[in-house]
Amino acid sequence: MSTDSIQLAERMSHVAMSPTMKGTIEAERLRRTGVDVVDLGAGEPDFPTPAHIVAAAHAALDKNFTKYTANMGIADLREAVCSRYKLDYGVTYAADEVIITAGGKQALYHAALVLFGPGDEVVTHAPGWPTIMEQIKLAGATPVVMRTDPAKGFALTADVLLAGVTPRTRGFVLNSPANPSGAMMSEAEAQKFAAACAKLGLWVVIDLCYEQLIYDNVPHNLPKIFGDALRDRLVLCGSASKSYAMTGWRCGWTVGPKAVVSAANALQSHETSNVNSITQKAVITALTGPQDCVHEMLKEYQVRRDQVIAWLGEEPRLTCVVPRGAFYLFPSVAAFLSPTGCRTSLEFADGLLAKEHVVTTAGEAFEYPGNIRISYATSLDRLREGVTRLIRYARTLA
Ligand code: PMP
Repeated sequence: MSTDSIQLAERMSHVAMSPTMKGTIEAERLRRTGVDVVDLGAGEPDFPTPAHIVAAAHAALDKNFTKYTANMGIADLREAVCSRYKLDYGVTYAADEVIITAGGKQALYHAALVLFGPGDEVVTHAPGWPTIMEQIKLAGATPVVMRTDPAKGFALTADVLLAGVTPRTRGFVLNSPANPSGAMMSEAEAQKFAAACAKLGLWVVIDLCYEQLIYDNVPHNLPKIFGDALRDRLVLCGSASKSYAMTGWRCGWTVGPKAVVSAANALQSHETSNVNSITQKAVITALTGPQDCVHEMLKEYQVRRDQVIAWLGEEPRLTCVVPRGAFYLFPSVAAFLSPTGCRTSLEFADGLLAKEHVVTTAGEAFEYPGNIRISYATSLDRLREGVTRLIRYARTLA
């Protein structure tokens, strides 16, 4: 049977493979043919999972903790999430206001499925993580994507987000610190925005997956600020992936009103059931154990951030906002684009991979053409090599 004749469900006509994963696949293909690829596409820490967390997993296995757990996650882990949030933000949640999910991705997807549906508009931002927009569409709702301004550091502001509100708006999905810009919502903006959302009676879903990766001690207590204004309409989605270098373990959480968590639990009970039992034990240790590992990784990311920004400065036309969090840079390549040469940032990223074997992610993936995303979750050596090749490639264009 030819693949042309295969009829998939209508919903699949709107869904494509996550564009941030495409570069990784091509890099792997090139690598297998012996090419020296510099991969600046990775959306995950290059550090190993800290040893004490791995040891907790070994202990769980040795005790044969290998069966189904409660669908919403073991109570100790849900309590560990509550304690972490209490310590970090001073907010109080009960264990039945938490569900453990297969990564932040599932937490966000369930939030979208539980809260949004056909006819609803959901405001989010660009540049932004594509999965957020796709998940809103999969829920049958329409994403309304508000552009943030590079001149203001891509900051998430109340005015920008509120400008997207219409009578059909049901809520917001924010990601702070944001992938790919590293921008955040400041506490002052959060106050203003939370007050407005409370008045409008709208849902606020916050993707906090990079919450532990914030530079320069910028205060970022969004859970408290939003919780004080609209606790009944606030859904927080977190993850162990980035904070503890645990991307492959697949563990995240949704924290929010009991009704939302119960609905997500019902969905999950027909879908993936509990998160891997061994992973859950490891994440208890991650959340309740010493946090020095997080601080050490953050320190290293900060060194890399500052270094890569300095290197990019060797080519002043590669203008770049300084990220406040996460581990990405999102420089503009607009100065190197032209109607007769390399026309788009997608062509720029494709050319950079083909000619210089450097993987980046084009801004098109983040609804923000004109820029490319560089992940600095890799060693300084590879970053130096990658930036050298990037500048060499850019200079062939203009
Ligand atoms: N939110 C954002 C903004 C991300 O970049 C990612 C991972 N790329 C996630 C959520 C989800 O990560 P995970 O499912 O591994 O927790």
